[in-house]
Amino acid sequence: MLVRCPWCSNLDDRVVDTRLAEDGGAIRRRRECSACGRRYTTYERLEQAPLWVTKRGGVREPFDRAKVVAGARSAAKNRPVDDDALNALAQEVEDALRGEPEVTSQQVGVAVLERLRQLDEVSYLRFASVYKGFEDVGDFEREVGLLTKTTEPKRKG
Ligand SMILES: [Zn+2]
Repeated sequence: MLVRCPWCSNLDDRVVDTRLAEDGGAIRRRRECSACGRRYTTYERLEQAPLWVTKRGGVREPFDRAKVVAGARSAAKNRPVDDDALNALAQEVEDALRGEPEVTSQQVGVAVLERLRQLDEVSYLRFASVYKGFEDVGDFEREVGLLTKTTEPKRKG
């Protein structure tokens, strides 16, 4: 693998250290530029296939973690929910949905709601009230009914 030196743009380096990182999910290589001698680090990771979400009307688009964070953040405005919690929420939603054969935009919304409820009740209610994924109030109530059946917080083992 050739990497351009961030200091001098040279394309030749030597690896001075290789180790596992991110719980074995990545390989970290410390490299030394053969031209300027400065060191930099590269990471090799498995490329993850995008998680496809089917929207209303059948349009499919890749799951957008940033969009989930942004939506949850607006619901959590002025609430004691920090960005770390929101990023963790979006990651949990993605991890949970990757186990599903088909993912719809409603499932994304419900997954966000479930976790937001565990974080902060007010943010949860705000998100629920503005969430546009539901066809009508009946759908919304049905989904909330499903949620209230699973009040026991699920913790990852
Ligand atoms: Zn260099």
